[in-house]
Amino acid sequence: MITKLSTKEKNNFNLLNKFSYEDIGNDHLYTGLKTPLKDNAFSISDTEKKEKIAFLFREIMDVMGLDLNDDSLKGTPQRVAKMYIDEIYSGLNPKNKPKIALFDNKYNYNQMLIEKNITFYSNCEHHFVPIIGKAHVAYISSGKVIGLSKLNRIVQYYAKRPQVQERLTNQIAEDLKNILQTESVAVIIDAKHLCVSSRGIKDDTSETITSYYGGEFKTPSKINELLNHLNN
Ligand SMILES: [Zn+2]
Repeated sequence: MITKLSTKEKNNFNLLNKFSYEDIGNDHLYTGLKTPLKDNAFSISDTEKKEKIAFLFREIMDVMGLDLNDDSLKGTPQRVAKMYIDEIYSGLNPKNKPKIALFDNKYNYNQMLIEKNITFYSNCEHHFVPIIGKAHVAYISSGKVIGLSKLNRIVQYYAKRPQVQERLTNQIAEDLKNILQTESVAVIIDAKHLCVSSRGIKDDTSETITSYYGGEFKTPSKINELLNHLNN
């Protein structure tokens, strides 16, 4: 419980439904569909970002008392910076969004298409430690189809951001609905959060499941059909 708050903090506190920033992080709450980015998030180049991150990460390591003259640690700040921008957080930058070509559904396949067990690695935005999981993505064509590998690429793009699982689920679903021009999209994510297993409550067995059912997937029969395929 927070006792002394400034007016600004009080206003924020009310806006956040009386949750403190601590509560939000600890309970893995999230604040909206859009990844919270600054307006000028991409005003500097990736090269400049990597230089800054390397400098700042070196500071963190130094504060922790690590000897940056050690041969093994020397290159770590640059490695972390490169990994952040080019790999694990590359999905923050819209320029890295996969290019998706839409095709006409020539074969008139009008049943559900499911891409299951898409393995992804993301990172929790509250602790910056990994979220490891599987995404199952399905859609019913409204006349347009995309390449199967693109479903995988869309999952990977949104996973490569600081994330919370609910947002990841909904961002994938919203993008697929836009691309495929249909509401009939389903996304189910089953993931393990290392901030839950390796620290905090240290629960190594729990998994978090989130789902999105749109359009025709809102009917119990379609949900059943989907879940049957996933469980086979
Ligand atoms: Zn976390």
